[in-house]
Amino acid sequence: MFKKLLAIGAIALFTLTSTVFAAGAAGITPGTGIAAQPTVAPATLSPAEAAGLQFMREEEKLAHDVYVTLYEKWDLAAFNSIAASEQKHTDAVAYLLERYDVSDSAAGNDLGEFTDPELQALYDNLVAQGSESIAEAIKVGAAIEEIDILDLQERMAETTNADILRVYKNLMAGSENHLRAFVTNLKAQTGEVYAPQYMDQGAYDAIVAAANGRGNSGRGSRAAGGFSRGGGRRP
Ligand code: MN
Ligand code: MN
Repeated sequence: MFKKLLAIGAIALFTLTSTVFAAGAAGITPGTGIAAQPTVAPATLSPAEAAGLQFMREEEKLAHDVYVTLYEKWDLAAFNSIAASEQKHTDAVAYLLERYDVSDSAAGNDLGEFTDPELQALYDNLVAQGSESIAEAIKVGAAIEEIDILDLQERMAETTNADILRVYKNLMAGSENHLRAFVTNLKAQTGEVYAPQYMDQGAYDAIVAAANGRGNSGRGSRAAGGFSRGGGRRP
């Protein structure tokens, strides 16, 4: 009986591994959890849903590209670890674009290059601001997370598609973790208490008071590392 269970377990593991490998070959990052979803014929997307995915694909790439650039500039560990999370986010949206046969808004674009002119302008402004000082860089990070949360809320209200909602909810949980990490890093580096730049105070307070969401808590607390160095010291 036990041997039989082991054999079943081994087959299940093999099947799961193959699925993840197959997904990897198709350009999906393993670990997003999307690869394990059953394959059913996808529904047709509305124009708003398709445009929403194209926008979020580039907005997650913007977060990634800004953090990679600011990590090179300031060598703050949070930017490096959060950039890796943003790569998974933009990949998850790319997977949905491919699944629903919508053209990839980020196709052929290099680091810092965007198809949407508003996102291009936002990227350019945020990198310029974040290059001024490490405090400005961290505030840029927090601003991106606030903008991301608000845009995700807007896009979630425009769809009932379960595939899309699952990915957006995952991105939202990541953004909330990242926002908390930047707030903690700002306090650690400068002693400054972050004030929300885009969200209303009540919604912001609720996120900052909450615990990190599932899946990203380890990354979140590691991103917050360095708190012990500067914590509590004010000039
Ligand atoms: Mn993200
Ligand atoms: Mn983020």
